[in-house]
Amino acid sequence: MNDEVVSKLKFKCVRCGDCCKWHGYVKVSESEAEAIAQFIGMDTADFYENMLMPGDEGESVSLTENDDGSCPFYSDSPQGCRIYEVRPSQCMSYPLEWRNPDKRCPGLENVNEPGQTNG
Ligand code: SF4
Repeated sequence: MNDEVVSKLKFKCVRCGDCCKWHGYVKVSESEAEAIAQFIGMDTADFYENMLMPGDEGESVSLTENDDGSCPFYSDSPQGCRIYEVRPSQCMSYPLEWRNPDKRCPGLENVNEPGQTNG
């Protein structure tokens, strides 16, 4: 079994927020932007103007970030994503498809039962 498969079997989110609290682009598609705007009760045009910025490649757009690089939708209290139900697919795929190169996700250490995931 390769490392990636083992990680998928052993990941369980511990809601530390590490993946949401560092600088980086969080790509948002058009349909995701509409869903998030609707979820937070914001006009889509206002959402584009206030919550999105140019992404790292071509025509993509990304969520804005706070001065410390954290995501504006991450909450320390209670800990977690305030738009969890409609979070971008990039967020859903962490840490199984991409990872912070400088920090190991503690959810990958939190092994309870094989096959248990939370994402
Ligand atoms: S949208 Fe939610 S899951 Fe994605 S980086 Fe922001 S707080 Fe984290």
